[in-house]
Amino acid sequence: MPTADKSALYRRLPAVDELLRLPAVAALVAREGHAAVAEAARSVLDRMRNEIAAGRLDEKGLELALGGLSDAGIISRELRQAMRYSLRGVINATGVVLHTNLGRAPLSEKALDRIREAAAGYSNLEFDLKTGERGKRDVHTQRLFARLFAEASETATVVVNNNAAAVMLALNSLAEGGEVVVSRGELVEIGGSFRIPDVMAKSGATMREVGTTNRTRIADYESALAEKTKLLLRVHRSNFQIVGFTERPSLEELVALGKRRGIPLLEDLGSGALFDLASVGIPDEPGVMDSLRAGVDVVTYSGDKLLGGPQAGLLSGKPELIARCRSNPMFRALRVDKLSYAALEATLLAYVRQDHDAIPALRMMRMSADSVRERAEGLQAKLQRRARLKTEIVAGESVIGGGAAPGANLKTFVLAVACDGLSADELAAKLRANEPPIVVRVGEGRVLFDLRTVFPEQEPAIAAALAAVVG
Ligand SMILES: *Cc1c(COP(=O)(O)O)cnc(C)c1O
Repeated sequence: MPTADKSALYRRLPAVDELLRLPAVAALVAREGHAAVAEAARSVLDRMRNEIAAGRLDEKGLELALGGLSDAGIISRELRQAMRYSLRGVINATGVVLHTNLGRAPLSEKALDRIREAAAGYSNLEFDLKTGERGKRDVHTQRLFARLFAEASETATVVVNNNAAAVMLALNSLAEGGEVVVSRGELVEIGGSFRIPDVMAKSGATMREVGTTNRTRIADYESALAEKTKLLLRVHRSNFQIVGFTERPSLEELVALGKRRGIPLLEDLGSGALFDLASVGIPDEPGVMDSLRAGVDVVTYSGDKLLGGPQAGLLSGKPELIARCRSNPMFRALRVDKLSYAALEATLLAYVRQDHDAIPALRMMRMSADSVRERAEGLQAKLQRRARLKTEIVAGESVIGGGAAPGANLKTFVLAVACDGLSADELAAKLRANEPPIVVRVGEGRVLFDLRTVFPEQEPAIAAALAAVVG
């Protein structure tokens, strides 16, 4: 299009003020405020200007677009987009219970209540109500951890921002300037750039690698011990397995070595279950209690993985070692806020009461494959009349995720859905664009819904979204 024609089109665009005076837009201004509506109108006009510049809007097209402006529909849609929350709830139909990209553990109802109470007003976060003096924020969870770990010899627990912070704090507090002995088979990377060698370097401790990728013996640790050894480190292989010609010492052997030579043993458990995973059919995943009972001096684990609570990092272990971590100035930089304490306290209370089903992540893991199938059948029945949808219920596996139990999956049933005229990826994209967004897995050309991770009250939204796709 010649430049002169484009200039003529630009001139036909109204000014923002003119737009705001249109009756429908003025009504929008009265409702939503001048600044927000003006901003939205400006974006709409900018977009039109860009369309003209790119030659995608001719005189007829512009006529149409300008007509659309007068009823305020376009501007109000623009406003809704701009004012929409970026962080939004989604329906997780992937069957990955602790999906890091989807925010890991959903919180219990009680935890949500406690967050609301702590957040909405003032609290005794660091205030001793008996004496009226300054208190410590640790007390709120300390007593519950102490109860949960009562069977182990005396333990203390402190809370930091996440498990990465917990590992960093433990290494820096207990081994700065010295050496930490660790197996080459445990120099792991966890998603999101947590790498043991890098964390070690930043902590100010020197890594002393022993053994090989596949085999490390207790003798390897023993011969690496020196004057400057400050810590033995064991790291959970959260997201991978080493199979075949492999060997690594038992926790008991490491504990015994540490005791004999007077060197504390730190274990990064990662997921850190506080309940018996064998009860849901996952036999070999160690829990926090197993490690403490075995005599590990300090364990670190996440609050929002198998524990099922808020994002947090926990350090549990020998009181004198935990006290050294607590008094490190780094602790002040890594501590958590009142909202995390509120949610963590409520989550821990559910464990004390042994009310595991109150914690959504645990409830999902404890759900039997048969009850997942029943729910899938219910959803399938709702879709029966939609001729464009082909549905089938097939056996599958749910993944615990969140660095818990690599390779340990839960038997499940998924509803596999194919849609005439749409590829599985196209259908998945439409589901993500739904309100609320629905996140699914795609397998063998179909979209798979694993209802294990879907809250029952979200099922109608899935049926409605599929109905909307096929019209
Ligand atoms: C998940 C994990 C971490 C990191 O924990 P965040 O809570 O995500 O910081 C560290 N170590 C191991 C072994 C893990 O599994």
